[in-house]
Amino acid sequence: MIDAHCHLDLYPDPVVVAREAVKHGVFVVSVTTTPAAWYGTKKLAAGHDSIVTALGMHPQLVATRAKDVEQFESLVPEASWLGEVGLDGTLECRDSLAAQTDIFACILKASSRAGGRVLSIHSRGAASAVLNELRAHPDAGTAVLHWFSGTLRELHDAIELGCWFSVGEPMIRSKRGRALIERMPRHRILTETDGPFVQSNGQPVHPWNVVSVERALAEYWRRSVENVSEQLYENLMGLQAR
Ligand code: MN
Repeated sequence: MIDAHCHLDLYPDPVVVAREAVKHGVFVVSVTTTPAAWYGTKKLAAGHDSIVTALGMHPQLVATRAKDVEQFESLVPEASWLGEVGLDGTLECRDSLAAQTDIFACILKASSRAGGRVLSIHSRGAASAVLNELRAHPDAGTAVLHWFSGTLRELHDAIELGCWFSVGEPMIRSKRGRALIERMPRHRILTETDGPFVQSNGQPVHPWNVVSVERALAEYWRRSVENVSEQLYENLMGLQAR
């Protein structure tokens, strides 16, 4: 199983969740929301090959923590994945959208300078703006659009641009989300939880709960869960080899 976007460091008991994820055989991309969390969150992955830590700077925090970008830039050479990064154009964050865009451009430039990285990208309410930035920074690496919620047109553009997608429970619960998943190239999809932010039955989801997303994909693709699981693993290997 693959959880390509999980905030391990934000669970009340991160060490236990990390250990359980390893026990369940889940590969976890442990994303962060500030560069200040990089070293602490990396400790959760110590000794576990199946947990990779991503260096992040969440767009929702840019309004108050724009200065963090310097620390972010200095840490990029150490990270193989970047995330959570991106843009948020929803009402609560729109005031900082110009600042977010400047910072996202800095992040993409830093990624380009380092030779390109895999990026787990937030694009809520800002899919076109994210795609514009990616287009302007073609050497930044491979973009994985997490919880993509743009229009079908934006999805089409994202696919044309070579983007990947990580899909989770909230997408399979919504009709719109399912319509998007249906149109995503199967060889460019990964599964995710976005835990602990995403809840299921009033409880935060855990990395091993991605099995429910695998089951849904198996249904959409008319394949066995094992077959979907293999496909996702192949996708991940291909992505990391880029
Ligand atoms: Mn997230």
